[in-house]
Amino acid sequence: MAVPKKKLYLRTFGCQMNVADSEQLAQVLASEYDLTQRPEEADLYLINTCAIRRKAEEKVKSLLGSLKFLKARRPQLIVGVGGCVAQQEGDRLLAAAPHLNLVFGTQAGRRLPDLVRRAAQGQRPVDIALRCGYEELPPRPWSPAPGQTLVTIMQGCDNFCTFCVVPYVRGREASREPAAIVRQVSDFLAAGGLEVTLLGQNVNSYGRGLAKPITFTGLLRRLSELPGLRRLRFATSHPRDLSDDLMVAYRQLPALCEHLHLPVQSGSNRILQAMNRGYSREEYLEKVARLRQACPGIAISTDLIVGFPGETEADFAQTLELMREAAFEQSFSFKYSPRPQTRAAGFPDQVPEEVKAARLSRLQARQDELTLAAHARLVGQVKEVLVEGLSKRSAKQLCGRLRTNQVVNFSGPRELVGRFTPVALTEAQPHSLKGTWALAHSPDLGGCPRQPQRRQHV
Ligand code: SAM
Ligand code: SF4
Repeated sequence: MAVPKKKLYLRTFGCQMNVADSEQLAQVLASEYDLTQRPEEADLYLINTCAIRRKAEEKVKSLLGSLKFLKARRPQLIVGVGGCVAQQEGDRLLAAAPHLNLVFGTQAGRRLPDLVRRAAQGQRPVDIALRCGYEELPPRPWSPAPGQTLVTIMQGCDNFCTFCVVPYVRGREASREPAAIVRQVSDFLAAGGLEVTLLGQNVNSYGRGLAKPITFTGLLRRLSELPGLRRLRFATSHPRDLSDDLMVAYRQLPALCEHLHLPVQSGSNRILQAMNRGYSREEYLEKVARLRQACPGIAISTDLIVGFPGETEADFAQTLELMREAAFEQSFSFKYSPRPQTRAAGFPDQVPEEVKAARLSRLQARQDELTLAAHARLVGQVKEVLVEGLSKRSAKQLCGRLRTNQVVNFSGPRELVGRFTPVALTEAQPHSLKGTWALAHSPDLGGCPRQPQRRQHV
């Protein structure tokens, strides 16, 4: 008789990349552990961490501290911390938390089953070795929302932006073999998948260093040929490496969604230079203008940091102005947080917290205006929505996304979840749109799946 599997509770902090990593960790442990949603029944409790800002790190440490109570009730429980904070802190975490059994860094995935076995034998292993090259782990057939999946195409980063801890905790940039990516995407599509998001810290430099070099656009073209792919997205693009070829691909590849996340970080050339971003405000805006020309209707989102060391009111005003010029549909904005090992942490003229907080709320108010205006431009149109599930606001409503990544809430039957359907957009709201199901009076649920039409060349 088969031995019942033990239970794994996996808590993930951070970005989509960490979410994708957690799925791989679950897959690596799948022969011995089944995932549970209930921490109180776990035999193994793993925290996959994020170190990008101090706040993220503090949340991890506070959760870890609280686990001593669970461990007191379940002494056999194995507690492990992995990912970026583990990579950064190593055995300092063991010293700070006597109930912690193991620490595994961002590249210890393959060795995790062995580390867990050693922890079960009473050792307290720490594995934070960084390798060279892409480490292929078994992909997990899994979706963040019905019909969607995340596919990691590269690991690490070589850019060393002066504020960012990623190159230190995730190591050197390494691209995954295209054949492995194509296989993972084909398997997902064969199982009925519709939308794929490719992940990397700087996808535009994908392919450098592979034995048989291929560009990022080359990869997009190969994936676009796979039957059944309806939507293709990616994150994150570095503005310096955004190629003309990619702009052309937006016009040519029907599955490529009209949305680009292009983090600018600041609108001041002085600050961009101090950040080591490798582009100027003018170069960035020129790329945005060309993108909007190459792909009319494209939505552009960005990341912004306020209060980088030395940022003056005049620098900040340039960021606000750039937001208006670029007319971002969405942005993710952060107060600068000094990170260990990074150059900017040692820069003079650190900006006081209250100044950062005041700038952040001014910046977010500007973005709210821009987002609302972008949503208002969509009102009156009928758009294809991929339905993700029940709306967060009201269980009576469904929610889904446009190709341009905006969230739409509307009423319709639950059978639409995981399907494409047309929705008439009726009302712009600050963070989403309201709509009416365009097939409400039709007996059909809408054509799904179907192949997209080739876009008109402009
Ligand atoms: N690779 C992406 C790029 O170059 O645009 C960014 C990845 S990073 C995980 C996501 C975002 O976190 C960054 O774009 C930046 O805005 C923000 N971030 C990174 N380090 C930060 C720090 N020290 N303080 C505040 N925000 C930070
Ligand atoms: Fe960090 Fe810059 Fe690399 Fe992005 S490109 S991960 S911000 S170092």
